[in-house]
Amino acid sequence: MSPPTVKLNDGTEIPAIGFGTGTALFGRDAENSIKLAIECGFTHLDGAQAYNNEDSLGAGIKAAGKPRSELYIVTKLKQGFGAAQVKPSLVESLQKLGLDFVDLFLIHSPRPLKPEDGTLQELWQAMEAVHAEGLAKSIGVSNFTVDDLKAILPGAKIIPSVNQVEIHPYVWKAVEPIVTYGRENGNITPASYGGLTPLVRAAGGPVDEVLPPIVERLTKILGKPVTPAQVLSKWVTHKGAIVVTTSSKEARIKEYLEASQVPDLTAQEIQAIDDAGAKLHKRVFMRHVFGE
Ligand code: NDP
Repeated sequence: MSPPTVKLNDGTEIPAIGFGTGTALFGRDAENSIKLAIECGFTHLDGAQAYNNEDSLGAGIKAAGKPRSELYIVTKLKQGFGAAQVKPSLVESLQKLGLDFVDLFLIHSPRPLKPEDGTLQELWQAMEAVHAEGLAKSIGVSNFTVDDLKAILPGAKIIPSVNQVEIHPYVWKAVEPIVTYGRENGNITPASYGGLTPLVRAAGGPVDEVLPPIVERLTKILGKPVTPAQVLSKWVTHKGAIVVTTSSKEARIKEYLEASQVPDLTAQEIQAIDDAGAKLHKRVFMRHVFGE
């Protein structure tokens, strides 16, 4: 069963859950993980020039043998690259990936950007140019703050379709204004990474206490075990965001995909997770952009 999709502001559809090649796979051969993820049902694969493994992402795509039309491939412009590097670096990425186009090309981060590399607005214009050439079906951003969005939106011919940012309960208070601003200014879809942080990077925190009764209720309704990771994934979905996750383990890959079958959380359950999350602030990634 293919994962559900979400319609972006440019009319294209993005699978609501994606499999990443950063974090644990950063700089490492991703071929086997990608092949396994595709075989288990993932169609949305999240790469980046900075992960230094796009060739193995391409090898995994090839090895899985799924038609290109059924896959959704994302890559990101290396941090620190300016407008002049957008097209040549994307062409190089496409060669490594073995593809004619990516479904989504993101600016990985608004910083660092050296003055000699131009402004953020010029960087976005270069993204619009590769979109016009058909090298990227959709274009978007990652790790953009409200001020970064404000810097590019006034001159933009194309509104970014996605802003991929860290989203989990321990960073929600800080990220909610970015999500809201994006929604209200061109319907920019948030995509989340780091969603499992309460389980894997901040175990023992306040969210741990509110998950068991939710897991128990949903397990009863579904008639098979629901996991805390699936509840967190549902929470991210309820915040309107695409989930980008990863795993080296087949059982967990399947568990992530099965989260779409888990019944909705109630408004009270979402609020309980929000309230518990608000008791602890923990940002794991991109502190050079966001600070703590
Ligand atoms: P998650 O927060 O979903 O964490 C996934 C990790 O959690 C895996 O390494 C997995 O390990 C581990 N895990 C899952 N469940 C458990 C459990 N119950 N107990 C212990 N460990 C568990 O995703 P990530 O933050 O790691 O990132 C996902 C993707 O997002 C990246 O690969 C990358 O593509 C993207 N990303 C983008 C960033 C950006 O700046 N745009 C920044 C960071 C990530 P295991 O292999 O053992 O299952």
